[in-house]
Amino acid sequence: MTSSKTGTAPKASKAPKASKAPKAPKIPKGESHLALVRRARRINRELAEVYPYAHPELDFRNPFELLVATVLSAQTTDLRVNQTTPALFAAYPTPEDMAAANPEEMEELIRPTGFFRAKTKSLLGLSAALRDDFGGEVPGRLEDLVKLPGVGRKTANVVLGNAFGVPGITVDTHFGRLVRRWKWTDEEDPVKVEAVIADIFPKSEWTMLSHRVIFHGRRICHARKPACGACPIAPLCPSYGEGETDPEKARKLLKYEMGGYPGQRLSPPPDFPGKPAPALGAV
Ligand code: SF4
Repeated sequence: MTSSKTGTAPKASKAPKASKAPKAPKIPKGESHLALVRRARRINRELAEVYPYAHPELDFRNPFELLVATVLSAQTTDLRVNQTTPALFAAYPTPEDMAAANPEEMEELIRPTGFFRAKTKSLLGLSAALRDDFGGEVPGRLEDLVKLPGVGRKTANVVLGNAFGVPGITVDTHFGRLVRRWKWTDEEDPVKVEAVIADIFPKSEWTMLSHRVIFHGRRICHARKPACGACPIAPLCPSYGEGETDPEKARKLLKYEMGGYPGQRLSPPPDFPGKPAPALGAV
């Protein structure tokens, strides 16, 4: 599921347009827990204005497709997964079809996502488990999902949050990096990060917070060169200055719709202000 509401006009995004450098943050040293919670919630509200259209960046039409796409997304981009899954789901639309697949044929179909032998093994195992243990349906409980081959807590939370509407926090590489830059936590272990964030935000925010933070990490607050000079939440960020602070140079670092480029989904939600991603091999 996405946050989009079909048929409604897209809300104006608070995209970074100013050519002035953002104000330097005023975050006191020794910030109290209460002040941190307030700042964290304010960042979330600001991100909601910047990315009113935040959504999962994997294309899917049902829980099974989202589960498979999430397993395929390990060690590659969502774009590459989205370019690969149309042919995969055309060949194997259900867990039963996938469980009965010829492994070599499946390897060829998912080769563009990398690690295709290990991923084929996972997909064969998980689709057989869905067929044999869950009546061919994806279960909607964390404890069942994590028992499926190749499915960890992160994948389970993505599926729960986006296909079942069960609140979940997705601690991927972007989420972990950003919450540490914002000093919400120093934890490195994703399970510990998840617990800290769950304490700061109400459950109702968990899924959309995850999308917003990941959107920000992919578009503005990059791992190597964060675009601090074009960052709308710079006044709330203790790591302002870790990246490029010159507004013009920073704007050139923006990605996807923020930089005027296509997004990662071939079928983005209707309120997405950018262009759809190209199909595999398209120029
Ligand atoms: S881009 Fe810079 S200012 Fe913005 S959140 Fe990242 S580190 Fe902070």
